Amino acid sequence: MAKTLVFLEHHGGELQKGSLAVLAKAAQLGGDVAGVVIGSDVRALAEGAGKFGAATVYVADDAMLESPLPQPRVDVIAKLVRDEAFDNVLFAQSVLAADIAGALAARLDAGLNWDLVDLSADGDGLVGKRPALADSVYVDVGWTSTPRLALFRSGTFDPSETGGSADVRDAAVELEDFSTRAELVSHDQEESEGPSIEDAEVIVAGGRGLGEPEKFALVEELAKALGGAVGATRAVVDAGWYPYSTQVGQTGKTVSPKLYIAVGISGAIQHKVGMQGSNVIVAINKDPHAPIFEFSDLGVVGDLHEIVPKLTELVQQRKAS
Ligand SMILES: Cc1cc2nc3c(=O)[nH]c(=O)nc-3n(C[C@H](O)[C@H](O)[C@H](O)COP(=O)(O)OP(=O)(O)OC[C@H]3O[C@@H](n4cnc5c(N)ncnc54)[C@H](O)[C@@H]3O)c2cc1C
Repeated sequence: MAKTLVFLEHHGGELQKGSLAVLAKAAQLGGDVAGVVIGSDVRALAEGAGKFGAATVYVADDAMLESPLPQPRVDVIAKLVRDEAFDNVLFAQSVLAADIAGALAARLDAGLNWDLVDLSADGDGLVGKRPALADSVYVDVGWTSTPRLALFRSGTFDPSETGGSADVRDAAVELEDFSTRAELVSHDQEESEGPSIEDAEVIVAGGRGLGEPEKFALVEELAKALGGAVGATRAVVDAGWYPYSTQVGQTGKTVSPKLYIAVGISGAIQHKVGMQGSNVIVAINKDPHAPIFEFSDLGVVGDLHEIVPKLTELVQQRKAS
């Protein structure tokens, strides 16, 4: 039976939704599924992972692991994989996870497939799916040896609770000298109001059609009225109109809210791949031939400067009544 280890990333005292979603997917595929939580004072987090399908959660709890630096985490995971003979090690995409997965591949001389959007069992092995050729096709990818390392695109799977409980065990913390030389000098948190685009059930996204950065206020007001988050296209992010953290698409985030409202967005393929999994897509665009209408559930042809304020007002009125 294949043994799978999932890296459970945490920030601010919470396990990340993306890691739990990868854990739930691994549990669905079956076999012996474990998670690993690494940090300082993190034991309490481990138990919660049982609900997402981990039979065992290893905890590496040490003051030396307090900063979210990759190399000490590579030491812990590499030892665990060798000692417990894990066949698969899975990660949800993040800056930290990408650093760890890359270094772990080098340390274990293992194959790493990244940017995966699906995973299935193939006998004793695994087959991953990843977009290629600017996301215009999907290709199946495999591994020629174990351990198999995989990084999944954010927003790929749903974190669904199964209600189980995990056996929590200690993982050895034996750090290499070279792994402890880096020091985290500062850690700044971007302040934002409302839900993040990864968690939001409603996203109102703005594009170049807004005309100028100040007009993002229209998008923000509609998002606020709907209790949602603001997204953006790369064109406006590159132009400095809105923060990079809100970019949806191939080189931004993959999102799958219940409702995605695209305001002044043309619907380029690189944007589409980041939001096509949304339940309902509404597009507001003055060009009736804009590609976004080809994959929208509801299309509104017109000037966003007239439509969006009226829509916001309507939502506010409905909410108030
Ligand atoms: C390698 C690569 C990676 C990329 N990654 C991403 C990515 O992750 N995310 C992403 O978004 N893009 C990405 N892009 C860029 C992508 O190709 C498009 O250039 C970008 O998505 C276009 O952004 P936009 O829709 O805001 O602008 P435009 O394409 O300029 O569209 C603006 C739209 O607004 C409409 N409009 C104008 N005025 C009004 C008005 N008054 N009322 C209503 N509608 C109006 C226009 O009709 C038009 O359809 C990538 C490109 C490459 C090459």
